[in-house]
Amino acid sequence: MFRSIKTRLIIFLIPVFAVIVTGLGFFLYNRLDNIVMEMVDHLLSGKADLMKGLVHSDHGDIEFEISHVTFGDYSINASGHYFEIADTKGNSLVKSISLGDHTLTGSRYPENTGYFMGTGPHQEPLRLFIEEFQVLGEKFVIYVGEEIREELALLKNFRIFLLTVFPMTIIIIAIGSMIVIQVSLSPLSSFSRQIGLITEKRLHERIYSQGGDAELQNIAYSFNETMSRLEKAFQAQKDFLSDASHELRTPTAVIKSAADVTLRRERSVVEYREALETVKYAAERMGGLIDRLLKLSRLEADQGQKKEMVGLKDILNTTLRTITPLAEAQGIDIYTEKAVDVTVDGDKDQLSELFLSILDNAIKYNRPNGKVSLSLAISDNWAVVKVEDTGIGIAPEALGKVFDRFYREDMSRGEIPGTGLGLPIAKGIAESHGGSIEVESEVGKGSAFTVYLPLNSSS
Ligand code: ADP
Repeated sequence: MFRSIKTRLIIFLIPVFAVIVTGLGFFLYNRLDNIVMEMVDHLLSGKADLMKGLVHSDHGDIEFEISHVTFGDYSINASGHYFEIADTKGNSLVKSISLGDHTLTGSRYPENTGYFMGTGPHQEPLRLFIEEFQVLGEKFVIYVGEEIREELALLKNFRIFLLTVFPMTIIIIAIGSMIVIQVSLSPLSSFSRQIGLITEKRLHERIYSQGGDAELQNIAYSFNETMSRLEKAFQAQKDFLSDASHELRTPTAVIKSAADVTLRRERSVVEYREALETVKYAAERMGGLIDRLLKLSRLEADQGQKKEMVGLKDILNTTLRTITPLAEAQGIDIYTEKAVDVTVDGDKDQLSELFLSILDNAIKYNRPNGKVSLSLAISDNWAVVKVEDTGIGIAPEALGKVFDRFYREDMSRGEIPGTGLGLPIAKGIAESHGGSIEVESEVGKGSAFTVYLPLNSSS
């Protein structure tokens, strides 16, 4: 309904403030009313006690010693201070001069005793106290009254004060809240303006919160962090695209120049054959590259995986059988050091591809008559596959880059064929299986690639 945060805050906050302030007003008024009436009641009961003390018995007769109260406030007509003593039937026995012809005995007794609001002989507001008491077994009723015009005026003034000050407070709080909400939310409009300026060509733009509000700075920080990650990913995609085009351009150029040169004049069958072989070789290279690019993009989209319980030892043995002829052709001794039976949840084809990439590198980047050893062990909940070679090794500054797409060390670029996509694919496969790959190497001595894969929970 209320789509703007500002409207929602105002619509919900102001009634809450109004209810709180009004409740506070009622509470304060009631407290003051109670305090004032308690003070008056205290005075009335004190006076009643005093009057009761003036009733004596003299040899069995009841006497009222009222001489003390025929002076002062009780002796002045309509002074606002009254008392009266009556019997239980309502017959007045003695009363203050201030009452004149009036009487305090009325309809309240005998139904009620205690404190009451009433009106005096001159219609003035009165607080009345009625109490029964006994002297020598005889029951009397005492009525004490005090005019409370001043007290009521005090309460009325307080009421007027509350009725003017509290609505003003509510209005001030409402205006104040609107200003605070407006000021607090204004950076959001600024954020949305700044975000609107970010396009795919301006991914370097960042947003700033002008105020020092921690919450908004947190939002700006998180947004900027996300943007940095996106910018990096976007840049990586762009680099990937340009690297891929660059890599594809070489075989394309080879095909074109082979065709151009061959078509320049009539050729012999042998020359045509040579040209076609060059084209075939370039096309195979392109095909291999495109194949690997597709694999990478499938891995990124997390597609094409058929995970099942697979025996790692079997996969490694099959991979080893596939690669052994290549190793033998290069005079490399490839062997398994140890292999335990381990099962993992995975895609057989992808895992074969992973180990094939690492073993292929261990052979490719080895020295003549070098060695490649393979081991499969268990460590905690991980299956650990280690491939060690005695090859050319990787320079320390390149260790962090060998898993980057299209990265090839300078010395491998020239003589050894490759795409720079084998290790990124291997890493992608390991990660999509919940695992990882680590590399250690020493230039001139050899390298060791270790693959960690989570064990199948039932193994
Ligand atoms: P390539 O197709 O070039 O082999 P990879 O992604 O498999 O691509 O490897 C990237 C680079 O890492 C290689 O070009 C090479 O420089 C280096 N590298 C990979 N494995 C080894 C290894 N076992 N010994 C030495 N260098 C290696």
